[in-house]
Amino acid sequence: MSKSAIVTGSTSGIGLGIANSLAAAGFNIMLNGFGDAAEIEKIKNEVASKHGVKTAYSPADISKPADIRKMVADTVEAFGSVDVLVNNAGIQFTANTEDFPDEKWDQIIAINLSGAFHGAKAVIPHFKKQGWGRIINIASAHGLVGSTHKVAYVAAKHGIIGMTKVVAIEAANDGVTCNAICPGWVLTPLVQKQVDARAAEHKISNEEAKRELLAEKEPSLKFTTPEELGALAVFLCSDAAANVRGQAWAMDGGWTAQ
Ligand code: NAD
Repeated sequence: MSKSAIVTGSTSGIGLGIANSLAAAGFNIMLNGFGDAAEIEKIKNEVASKHGVKTAYSPADISKPADIRKMVADTVEAFGSVDVLVNNAGIQFTANTEDFPDEKWDQIIAINLSGAFHGAKAVIPHFKKQGWGRIINIASAHGLVGSTHKVAYVAAKHGIIGMTKVVAIEAANDGVTCNAICPGWVLTPLVQKQVDARAAEHKISNEEAKRELLAEKEPSLKFTTPEELGALAVFLCSDAAANVRGQAWAMDGGWTAQ
């Protein structure tokens, strides 16, 4: 029987890239995330036909623990097992700490941090029973260092790295690993919004705004791609990575090396 992976927030951006990479490696995929129903159906069919695996879709809202538990149960029901959980769903909001809306703080913590906890809690019993499992938390360079205007995001991403370490240690004898991936800038809708805001604020073109954004943080001056992150996720699911435990692996063009 082939293995199955849940990738949260896989209707767009990094999650979709990771879902495609895991499907190419033979995993059945439970897709999740928001979006237009017809577009999601198209993604579900494309991932399946392109890679010859089974796919399903869960509409779970990752800010709701009961939805997450149902998504895990639906995965076992659809594919016979759950073997990999990629906690990727995430949102961003930027403002000074003193102006940061309370409800945005709560929402970011709920989706970007608590959602990963509830997902891990729901899959670990399955992973322990089968003696194999992989949890991959999509953190960020902002899990390792801070930036202005991102108090909730940076707190959530630092938090998810802490959670990664605890789960990894607890599962160290169970064939279960838990690691975090820390991307630098990836040109997805989440970052395009920040590019647009910078272009408007500085009265510059979109291309100039992208260059500025990269130059501020990344010595490579290059965006990391969803495909590169997908390849790292596939490695973390491989036998070669069986003893990689509790790590926060940056793929950030040198951002956090400085
Ligand atoms: P994106 O906006 O392209 O995709 C986010 C995905 O999460 C979408 O599928 C969306 O529908 C889903 N989502 C949002 N709220 C949800 C909810 N409540 N329940 C279920 N799904 C929900 O963003 P992205 O850039 O691909 O980001 C993916 C992850 O990567 C996030 O955790 C983000 O913090 C992280 N990340 C992104 C970058 C970057 O530069 N883009 C860098 C570092 C880390």
